[in-house]
Amino acid sequence: MHRIMITAATYENVRQAVDYAFQLFPLELREKTILIKPNVLRAANQEEAITTHPSVLRAVVEKVRTMDPGSIIVGDNPGIFGYGENEESFKKTGLMEASLGYYQNIGNDSQKVDFNPDFVSSVSLSRTVMEADIIISLPKFKTHGLTVITGAIKNSYGFLPGAQKAKLHKAAGTPERFHEMLVEVFQLRVPDLFIVDAVVGMEGNGPASPDLRDIGLILASDNAVALDAVIATMMGCEPGRLRFLQKAKEAGLGDYDLSKVEIIGELKRIPDFKLPPFSGEANISNEALQEMIHKRTILRPQPDPELCTGCATCIDQCPVSALSMIDNLPQVDADVCITCFCCQEICPEKAITLR
Ligand code: SF4
Ligand code: SF4
Repeated sequence: MHRIMITAATYENVRQAVDYAFQLFPLELREKTILIKPNVLRAANQEEAITTHPSVLRAVVEKVRTMDPGSIIVGDNPGIFGYGENEESFKKTGLMEASLGYYQNIGNDSQKVDFNPDFVSSVSLSRTVMEADIIISLPKFKTHGLTVITGAIKNSYGFLPGAQKAKLHKAAGTPERFHEMLVEVFQLRVPDLFIVDAVVGMEGNGPASPDLRDIGLILASDNAVALDAVIATMMGCEPGRLRFLQKAKEAGLGDYDLSKVEIIGELKRIPDFKLPPFSGEANISNEALQEMIHKRTILRPQPDPELCTGCATCIDQCPVSALSMIDNLPQVDADVCITCFCCQEICPEKAITLR
């Protein structure tokens, strides 16, 4: 039986809830490499509640470092709105400070892995994700126009660096297939523990809605499917109608049937919780969304010959080896480039623009 912790918390006393989560879901961290992954959608003020709150991250980092780990990495790959702004996103949200020196731009180094060819034959995954012994995922309690909720399973979408996320959105084509593709990404490396920031949640048209809700809870589990079923139930959404939960159950990743879930705490539906306008019927053919995805997927880096010194730093740092030096100027292979913006970030001459 899956177990879900639901416990009261504020951002001031969140460490108690984090300690309780580790007590209920013990992990052996000694001498291991630990990746802690908050939800960092984009550079935003923490008051906007778009990202995991820094107090939650800080409490988890402080807890983990008491457990004698070999190393700690705090990282994420921001979403469609935040490509190329990894460090800025962490700084603006307060998550850089809360990382206590363990922040790493995990988009700088990635590894190609096989994927479900119904979507694409391979994806690039942050190498840190592949190499971590233990992954602790810190989702935010939020709504999402395409998936209704953004919780434990959706948080793993950030394991993919750069504009692959937009490309996969496009490859999925329909909301139903997007739900299925999310589970494919999640399965690449299932995290070991999930601690959800539901102290202040988001309702309405997430994942960046102005409608916030004081919920005053921290949720935790070692099973993402059951945890997302609880989040959906709290939001007033029947978990069994969410395609990504159906797919995750079919894949043997857990169960959304709450009769098979032990709740440690109290599960209550949040009164009058506002679900997204289309509650999962939001369509990838939505024109504004299509246009944004298109713009993000056609961008490619272009070095300025006047500024470029030919130092090759960008070529060395490209996570998918998409750049090569031709006539003393880096050239991009547009089919290989995942538009992660790392070359632009790293160029010492600021010679790269995205066109
Ligand atoms: S890092 Fe910048 S200066 Fe160096 S080769 Fe690349 S574009 Fe040119
Ligand atoms: S060429 Fe630049 S933007 Fe494209 S994948 Fe390489 S580092 Fe990322």
